[in-house]
Amino acid sequence: MKVLVIGCGPAGLACAEKILALTEFEVTVVDKKSRVGENPRCAGGISRYMMEKVGFSVPKSCIVANLKRVRIYAPNMDYWEFKGDKDYGYVLNRELFEQAMAEKVEGLGGKIVLGHLVSTKDLEFWQSQYNYIVGADGPVSVVRQWLGLPNFSGGDVHLGVQKTITMDSYPQDTAELYFGENVASEGYAWIFPGGNSLVRIGLGVPVWRGWRVHQFLDNFIERNVYDHREINSIAKQIPTAKMPETGVYGKVVLVGDALPSTDPLTGGGVCQGIASGQAAGRAITEGHLGNYDRSINWLRKQNNRRYRLKQVLYSFSDQDFNKLIEVMHGFKPKTMSIGAELRRAVIRLLLRKPRLARKFFKYLH
Ligand SMILES: Cc1cc2nc3c(=O)[nH]c(=O)nc-3n(C[C@H](O)[C@H](O)[C@H](O)COP(=O)(O)OP(=O)(O)OC[C@H]3O[C@@H](n4cnc5c(N)ncnc54)[C@H](O)[C@@H]3O)c2cc1C
Repeated sequence: MKVLVIGCGPAGLACAEKILALTEFEVTVVDKKSRVGENPRCAGGISRYMMEKVGFSVPKSCIVANLKRVRIYAPNMDYWEFKGDKDYGYVLNRELFEQAMAEKVEGLGGKIVLGHLVSTKDLEFWQSQYNYIVGADGPVSVVRQWLGLPNFSGGDVHLGVQKTITMDSYPQDTAELYFGENVASEGYAWIFPGGNSLVRIGLGVPVWRGWRVHQFLDNFIERNVYDHREINSIAKQIPTAKMPETGVYGKVVLVGDALPSTDPLTGGGVCQGIASGQAAGRAITEGHLGNYDRSINWLRKQNNRRYRLKQVLYSFSDQDFNKLIEVMHGFKPKTMSIGAELRRAVIRLLLRKPRLARKFFKYLH
């Protein structure tokens, strides 16, 4: 059996590794990048909760910071701190992480072809050469285009922009999330530690806001950071759509951001990409692609809950966010999942403020 994986990101590499670990199939991964992990466009934050749920580990050498707490800021700068007994998660060096994944794939006999921008013409030709094709080519997926699937609609794709800057005073064990109309309307801003006195400071807003996203980020940096040096700047789309009922189209399977498996609320897609990649890989080895849709049902359910929560949160006014954080004071997290805890907090808010419950009821059922 011959399998072609388009995209050498976490989803594609997880898929390739799973197939190679379970079979003797011939697996080729192709990517337009000239180096594995080149120019990563990601804050690198992953939660321990999701790592454990998906069942993968990260080599220590790929971790730039251990996250002990997450702070969520309201527009009035009041914040709620999320801190459990153990580390909340990690911040990855995405380049090293992808290189480590690629080494495993090559170690198991997989082939990685770099520097090839895949076109629909290539796919047309390759469909007769391979038994399975895996679309792991991210949010602007040529495989989706070839399959004739629609683009993600306006509110369901965010534009993420991020700068890596120096910020000596920033606690390297803390991630911060900021909400509010003037921070990132219908999105949020983040600060993640980047190791060595660096931080990754960014935000995501729906793509239809276009150029304003850069202005939002510059304003956010100006308000929160007094003195800094910019190391780099990146921008990329982040799908925040519902996860579809199927990722299988004949002998083609979509994984990761191309599916999309990304968490619609946080925009986090590394763990989700690995989960979908592994599941697709397993289904390919079993020769039953239908198993793929079934085995990621838990992720689909989780993402669809997060999608509804995104709709509620992104319709909050600044006053609603201020109230949410007020209600969260004294709130003891039950899990290590930000999404699950935010959901509990929103429900708690709506129970305490029935006027708000009526306003958001349409999204919650
Ligand atoms: C600013 C920003 C910050 C983020 N922060 C986080 C975070 O902190 N935590 C988190 O979990 N997620 C984060 N994400 C999301 C995360 O980066 C993605 O969800 C994740 O990378 C998805 O993995 P993937 O393998 O599906 O796709 P990708 O990582 O996008 O990999 C796709 C690969 O396909 C290749 N490719 C694309 N088109 C072609 C083509 N035509 N031909 C050949 N190769 C092609 C690309 O070069 C790429 O290597 C962030 C995203 C952005 C934009």
